Amino acid sequence: MKRSPSFAVGVVAGVLLTLGCAVLMAAKSEKVTPVDPRPRDYYTPNTEKLEADEMRVIACGTGMPTTRAAQAAACFLVELGNGDKFLFDLGSGSAERISSLQIPYNYLDKVFLGHLHTDHFGSLHDLFVGGALMGRNVPLRVWGPSGAVPELGTKYALDRMQEMLTWDLSGRVGLTDPRGYVMEVTEFDYKGVNHVVYEENGVTIRSFPAIHAIDGPVSFALEWNGLKFVFSSDTYPNKWFIEHAQDADIAIHECFVAVPDLVEKMRFTPESALQVGTQVHTSPQAFGKVMTTIRPRMAVAYHFFNDFDTAAAVYDGIRQTYDGPVSLAEDFMVWNVTKDEIRTRMSIVEERTWAPPLGRPAVPPKPEDRNVWEERLGTSLGFSEFIQSGFWSVDDVLRPVYEATSEEFGREFPYPGDE
Ligand SMILES: [Zn+2]
Ligand SMILES: [Zn+2]
Repeated sequence: MKRSPSFAVGVVAGVLLTLGCAVLMAAKSEKVTPVDPRPRDYYTPNTEKLEADEMRVIACGTGMPTTRAAQAAACFLVELGNGDKFLFDLGSGSAERISSLQIPYNYLDKVFLGHLHTDHFGSLHDLFVGGALMGRNVPLRVWGPSGAVPELGTKYALDRMQEMLTWDLSGRVGLTDPRGYVMEVTEFDYKGVNHVVYEENGVTIRSFPAIHAIDGPVSFALEWNGLKFVFSSDTYPNKWFIEHAQDADIAIHECFVAVPDLVEKMRFTPESALQVGTQVHTSPQAFGKVMTTIRPRMAVAYHFFNDFDTAAAVYDGIRQTYDGPVSLAEDFMVWNVTKDEIRTRMSIVEERTWAPPLGRPAVPPKPEDRNVWEERLGTSLGFSEFIQSGFWSVDDVLRPVYEATSEEFGREFPYPGDE
């Protein structure tokens, strides 16, 4: 049989291809090619499965009472391999950070507040109302400390927060699934030392007193599956943290702006910079001393504006007293914690995310739910004659919207007033 030149070319090409593949396969494991994807060193929300023995902590707010675009105020999300998720503090601006993580709101139903400064709970009403609107149809559960008198406790604050929302909630009742607009508040004794405040599903959360502003603030330790997460909220260094944050895998503690930057950037007098930066809050040097004493696998410093011209002073202060692993937290920093490894990365988030999928199906609203509120408020929630007199008709352009929707869903949606 006479072999054609093209056959020979084919054989040669085949051999070359085989050789080439072998070389490529070897190259894949040994060196980076210009065409193959490389391992990623950032976290993209909603793309990574959490392993059964893994804890993931995400900073959803790391800044100051005055929020800014780069940093919301205090908030840390803890996600566990058993499916549980916990929010520690929910400072101003943090709810929008949380929304970028694309987590169904039913799973963001447990919030632990260390104290009642707005930079630690100022976004609670955003999560409460906005979370329900975007699919949470279970109650929002909130834990927080008592105070020296009932008026200084969590229950007082959150009862009044819900009162503050009377107009907001009255205007929503009867229009959306009502089951998420319920807040369950558990207030515990702020003087409890290593006191269990939560114990479910293999997760134990304890509180211990913190020293900050006035009586009332607490810090938390979460333990699960042999891993320990500790969160100071705000505190001056104290004996309870030193004792009960021991053996933490990840220990998050406030660390304030360095004194010279308080003078230069916040226009504090040196007197008040020293007072606020070292006596009211924890200075970088004091943060380092705390971490040197408790020796966590990862120390996390937060509660300062983390910039190119502030971070070095904070870092240098910490390094005067601590030489272990440390993260200077920024919003969307992520720590994956297992017994073997702690991996620190930044998230790449999409700012234009919409509602995540529902945790369980919604139920249609019941218009009669309005009656309950009307009775409570002693007034009709319908518009007054005065306001009704202001309606300007756009029926002609809205009727086609109803018709198109009826056609699309194969169901008749009667135009209001036609029923
Ligand atoms: Zn505070
Ligand atoms: Zn604070």
